[in-house]
Amino acid sequence: MVSSASARNPLWHPFADMGAVDGDRLVITRGEGSYVWDDEGKRYFDATASLWYANFGHGREEIAVAVADQLRTLDSYNLFGYNANEPALKLAERVSALAPEPGSKVFFGSGGGDVIDTAVKIARSYFAHTGRPEKVHVIGRVQGYHGTHGFGTAVGGIAANAAGFGPLPGDISHVPYDSADALEAEIQRVGPDRVAAFFCEPVIGAGGVLLPPDGYIERVAEICREHGVLFVADCVIAAFGRLGTWFGIDRWAVKPDMITTAKGITGGTIPLGALIVAPRVAEPFFTGEPGAPVLRHGATYAGHPVACAAGNATLDIYERDGLIPRGRELEKPLADALSGLASHPLVAEVRAGLGFLGAVELKADVIEANPGAANRLQRLARDEGVLVRNLAKGIAVSPPLIAGEAELDLLATALPRALDRLA
Ligand code: PMP
Repeated sequence: MVSSASARNPLWHPFADMGAVDGDRLVITRGEGSYVWDDEGKRYFDATASLWYANFGHGREEIAVAVADQLRTLDSYNLFGYNANEPALKLAERVSALAPEPGSKVFFGSGGGDVIDTAVKIARSYFAHTGRPEKVHVIGRVQGYHGTHGFGTAVGGIAANAAGFGPLPGDISHVPYDSADALEAEIQRVGPDRVAAFFCEPVIGAGGVLLPPDGYIERVAEICREHGVLFVADCVIAAFGRLGTWFGIDRWAVKPDMITTAKGITGGTIPLGALIVAPRVAEPFFTGEPGAPVLRHGATYAGHPVACAAGNATLDIYERDGLIPRGRELEKPLADALSGLASHPLVAEVRAGLGFLGAVELKADVIEANPGAANRLQRLARDEGVLVRNLAKGIAVSPPLIAGEAELDLLATALPRALDRLA
């Protein structure tokens, strides 16, 4: 069922088979709390928090007020050169104060992919300006996802996302996502004096909700430090409560050189990304000495006052409502809600238990027989009133941190029904 306005509309959706989408669009018209409504008035549990970001749910009046106030006061102004605006200054201070390392600097961008590309450029630039210009190589992980900009596409390890675009930025390689030894070996193969950075999602998101083996995060951080390789934690999904801490990576006792964030920093209400740079990496750019390096990089909308006003209002909500720890409190209840699916005849594996996110993977023969099975499962869950994210081999969930027992019950009943219908 689709309204006539949406069928054959010129709107081109990201990551979509437009031939299939056209005529079957899901037009979301309203959101409140953990729920959204379509243009026919049907209600859905937003079990994906849109795209892993609506951490405080939908329809918060505080955000609407903060954004409207900011638009009335100063609707836009850029951060280039000497310019600044108050919401950006305030948000940078708050994010830096929460960051694992005191004195961290904050570079804003328009979203996650923006700050990923910024992180690669800062890593290379840092070494270029500290006498090691040959340190340019970047290592990512198989199944890693780091956005769709140039560097992020290349550092990402989902092969299908990099195929067909011709040559991407070079001096980038990938290691298996679950082996710290493989990282060590790859650094040795390339040469520690040629490797600039290692990019690592604490929990791989779009690549399948792949949890790190015990000890993995601590070990890769240590390997990076031993070899003078910058450890970049991509916390675009993990930060702002998804793993139950401010940045996600701070669940482990590690000190990343850079942390990428976006999504939850505004609950997705206004596009914004923030790169947190440890003082030792930022230092060469802040000396004030004649000839000190200038980072010739930055997006027009970096530190946009309206986005940063939404960010400040978002941090107020997280602090006042105590939402950040919920990502950890809810990890067991979510794992329990999904656990019954593990014995379903179509299901290979259920992955959950670290943060408020999880995945259900279909058996290989199911995918082989029907390559569109994961998309179909997503579509069937939608019929059951639950929005889930399709993965290559299954579906993922990452509900708003305000979701409770009633919503987890919805998941636990809707997903088996969708799986039965897929069978
Ligand atoms: N890194 C990770 C881990 C992500 O999950 C995403 C987006 N899903 C990105 C980077 C890219 O962010 P954006 O889509 O805002 O560019």
